Amino acid sequence: MSQSQWLERYQSALMRNFGVPKRVFVKGEGIHLWDADGKRFTDMFSGIAVGGLGHGHPAVTEAVASQMRTLGHISNLYASPPQIALAERLVSLTGEPSRVYFANSGTEANEAALKVTRLTGRTKIVAMTGSFHGRTMGALALTSTAKYRTPFEPLPGEVVFSPFNDVDALASVVDDTTAAVILETIQGESGVIPANSEFLTAAREITRVHGALLWVDEVQTGIGRCGEWLTSVADGVEADLITVAKGLGNGIPMGACLATGPAGELFTPGSHGSTFAGNPIAAAAGLAVLDTIATEGLLDNAHAMGRLIKESLLGLGNPGIREVRGRGLLLGVGLSDQTGSRIVDAMLDAGWIIQAPRPDVLRLAPPLIVDAKTVAEFVEVLDDMVRRVRNNDR
Ligand SMILES: *Cc1c(COP(=O)(O)O)cnc(C)c1O
Repeated sequence: MSQSQWLERYQSALMRNFGVPKRVFVKGEGIHLWDADGKRFTDMFSGIAVGGLGHGHPAVTEAVASQMRTLGHISNLYASPPQIALAERLVSLTGEPSRVYFANSGTEANEAALKVTRLTGRTKIVAMTGSFHGRTMGALALTSTAKYRTPFEPLPGEVVFSPFNDVDALASVVDDTTAAVILETIQGESGVIPANSEFLTAAREITRVHGALLWVDEVQTGIGRCGEWLTSVADGVEADLITVAKGLGNGIPMGACLATGPAGELFTPGSHGSTFAGNPIAAAAGLAVLDTIATEGLLDNAHAMGRLIKESLLGLGNPGIREVRGRGLLLGVGLSDQTGSRIVDAMLDAGWIIQAPRPDVLRLAPPLIVDAKTVAEFVEVLDDMVRRVRNNDR
């Protein structure tokens, strides 16, 4: 069946919320994908910063298959060894005494954290302009983008938005009625915008003074994406709540809410639940991901390849590329014009997958296994495409 035939069937059977996808993929291996017409692509986006180990990594494939053969699902009325072992591993990543609640996605990890904040007895949440925390109603209430929010208002909760990276504004909006401040260490969806370290330090101080929780959404930045297990822990931020998801299962849907110290005691029996969350298969995938990142040295590789991409792109002297920001392998390429989506399309035609979160920004999130040869090829093709689109001659 050809790609266009698949897409016709897609358009009559699926709801229209994702628009019309640009390709139908039938196979993945390592950093490569193949579409239904047999064309090969290099994946520099990892399914929105998910597949850190690349497609079909044998460690995850084997862990999932063998766990499915052994014990697939039991619900949270019962426990399983992989679930307990993964929770312990995640606790160790926080470097503090913590507790874990498992979820099936990033938005669900955030819903869980939002429910934790309610149990402080306070309801006001301070979120950041430019934030993205997910699409379910609670997580959407914390997401600032008007086009995502407006059609679904009224949204739950008492949420106040404060300008990102503005210490004075944050200090003036957080008070003794504030349950939590939620922020991303790098705002991925709004264009790969890093929080500066003074802001993170101030957010910790301000929340501590007012007895509010500091909640860091590491759904996109965590689990090796930025060359750290958790960027907030690496930077000594000491958050009360950390949510993770995307990279955790390498494609098996899963997330987690990590709560340190007293925040970890707020859920009591019956506070929250989920049929699938933390099931043995997902937990086995998570363990395989954490093991593989450690044994293959992928945190170091993320730093090294991220630096190589940054330096190579800036070294081009391409007038269409203004800056490269981000950390590890979550990078934003700031463009001189509003050509992002045209560059993304031109790259796709040339066999390279990237994305544009904003018209003047390209987002790169290659698998953590990406190598220097692929980076060199990528930089050459991107250089060419940025120039061509800019010169309007493609
Ligand atoms: C992707 C993302 C989410 C939502 O995760 P889903 O798995 O799509 O529900 C939440 N927060 C951040 C920072 C994200 O990047």
